[in-house]
Amino acid sequence: MRIIIITLLFGMIGCQSNFPRFDKDNAFQYLLDQCDFGPRNPGSDGYYACRQFIIEELEAYADDIVLQDFRYREQVDHKTYDFQNIIGRFNPDADFQTIISAHWDTRPWADRDPEKRNRRTPIMGANDGASGVAVLLELARILAENPAPIGVNLVFFDAEDLGSPGLNETYCQGSRYFAKHLPIPRPDEAINLDMVGDKQLTLPIERYSYDFHPDLVRDLWDRAKDLGLDAFSGKIDYAIYDDHVPLYEIAGIPAIDIIDFKYPNPYANFHHTIDDVAENCSAKSLDQVGRLMVDYIYNRGGEREE
Ligand SMILES: [Zn+2]
Repeated sequence: MRIIIITLLFGMIGCQSNFPRFDKDNAFQYLLDQCDFGPRNPGSDGYYACRQFIIEELEAYADDIVLQDFRYREQVDHKTYDFQNIIGRFNPDADFQTIISAHWDTRPWADRDPEKRNRRTPIMGANDGASGVAVLLELARILAENPAPIGVNLVFFDAEDLGSPGLNETYCQGSRYFAKHLPIPRPDEAINLDMVGDKQLTLPIERYSYDFHPDLVRDLWDRAKDLGLDAFSGKIDYAIYDDHVPLYEIAGIPAIDIIDFKYPNPYANFHHTIDDVAENCSAKSLDQVGRLMVDYIYNRGGEREE
């Protein structure tokens, strides 16, 4: 009897089962909670309710919270809004500091909807907005219960998605402001999550990411393979102008983007349409990215197969 118990213990250590578990159902609940507020486009009721919700969750879990205010006039309806980046810091005194980020605002216009009458309607942003935030909030819960060996800054960017099509510089205002006026000590690297809830999740290597931080890209996609996360595909695909670009170009932070831009697949499009709803997302998809982030945070020095 005794020998069996010892063997089991060794077995558990070998499998490193002491790593915290990403709870995909809890993460998906966070996605639903955001959708319950309605669209979170700047100035809307849903926007203010969601901002309050994120801050309250971080107040429960984070070591420090930093709120970064800025103002921007968007170029479509020419409206000026006050915006807020929200940063939850964990283990802020650690030598190695990383950012895991997502945008929390949603697009004010479903301007890629097939129906013309819908194109001024704010999108729900279950995938484009809520999915990345959902993963971050579940990570916040995990980080509070399991102190991390590295410093983790969960950054919720505002004003990512009120740009004018074709004008990259009108998108990603939150990350642009953050990069110009770093509100925390300069981190070592950054991972941005966007559109990671798609039910038919496929995650190729985004092209800018491979240019900005190839080592991290290789490390993460190798980890994904070791963990059996089959949404990750090793092929380099499209280049997406997302929040990682200002971080790299303005602040020089080696930054990457984990994104499935083909939502739901190469043959249909829910992106910036009224079909970006929770029914087209899944807990299983959030789990793929969440488990990879947990491994990245807690198993940095861990042995992996080459
Ligand atoms: Zn978008």
